[in-house]
Amino acid sequence: MNNFFLSIIIPVFNEEKNIQPLLKRLLKVVKKYNFEIIFVSDGSTDKTEEVIKNEAKKDKRIKLISFLRNFGHQMALFAGYEHAKGDVVVSLDADLQDPPEIIPKMIEAWQKGAKVVYAKREERKVDSFFKKITAQIFYKLLNFVSDVPIPKDVGDFRLLDKKVVDFLKGLCEKPRFLRGLVAWPSFPSTFVYFKREKRLFGKTHYPLSKMVNFALEGITAFSIKPLRLATYLGFLTSFFAILTIIVKSFQHFVLKQGDWLPGWASLFFAIVFLGGVQLITIGIIGEYVGKIYQEIQKRPNYLVKEKINF
Ligand code: UDP
Ligand code: MG
Repeated sequence: MNNFFLSIIIPVFNEEKNIQPLLKRLLKVVKKYNFEIIFVSDGSTDKTEEVIKNEAKKDKRIKLISFLRNFGHQMALFAGYEHAKGDVVVSLDADLQDPPEIIPKMIEAWQKGAKVVYAKREERKVDSFFKKITAQIFYKLLNFVSDVPIPKDVGDFRLLDKKVVDFLKGLCEKPRFLRGLVAWPSFPSTFVYFKREKRLFGKTHYPLSKMVNFALEGITAFSIKPLRLATYLGFLTSFFAILTIIVKSFQHFVLKQGDWLPGWASLFFAIVFLGGVQLITIGIIGEYVGKIYQEIQKRPNYLVKEKINF
């Protein structure tokens, strides 16, 4: 039954202390398969690449692609997919938050016919209250705007069949949000559940500012509904403006009452409110214009400094 080739791809950014513990656990799990382990170093500046190179010397199945600089987690993953030769490709984080021990379960699910197997977090116990809440809002928003359902509580720990990987490789767009792209073609998919552990060494590379950026990327990469939202907001505020004018005129000309001069507060409110709405709408449009701009520049997704064991 194990006559397939398994590729494991691991994006790493300054994870020097995590590599060896990860490999120890991972190798134990995958040794019964034909496999390759591809580390993609996303411009690491610590000893990460050195540690991986040492391991790669001992075992040719351990491979390294290192980027010239940091291109981001999603690009590192994408480079992994582009280089993976497997019939089946599993991606996981390097910090041991994704337990390699469930990989055989994911493979079983794949052998039963699933083309995408998501590892889904059973509970978010180790995450802070803040991360839980923001994640909740993010997935709600994402699924509200997205045309295809994007599963909740799954990260980038997943198994993909070669077919899905080929789909990703064939894309002409910049792969900004793989979680969405994987869901988009709607291949048969299933879930395997796991408990997310604490990061082994180091700290997260996703502080709030990066999380907000990631969320905006995700939302705008998957839908143009926010643009429509801007139009709706415009309609709504215009409607209220017209309503106010009608009511006020009626009071003044017909009822001969009203406060034309003392209305400073309402006027001020209207200006500030409309200013805010306009800024939001311009921001939303800017988000998309920026994407179009980057897309037509056609710059490479990443630049490779070095490849080992390929
Ligand atoms: N990572 C990366 N490039 C980056 C940031 C992170 O390749 O710019 C890698 C990182 O080494 C880890 C994975 O992506 O293997 C997930 O990052 P992290 O654990 O910091 O995110 P979190 O689990 O906190 O969301
Ligand atoms: Mg992590």
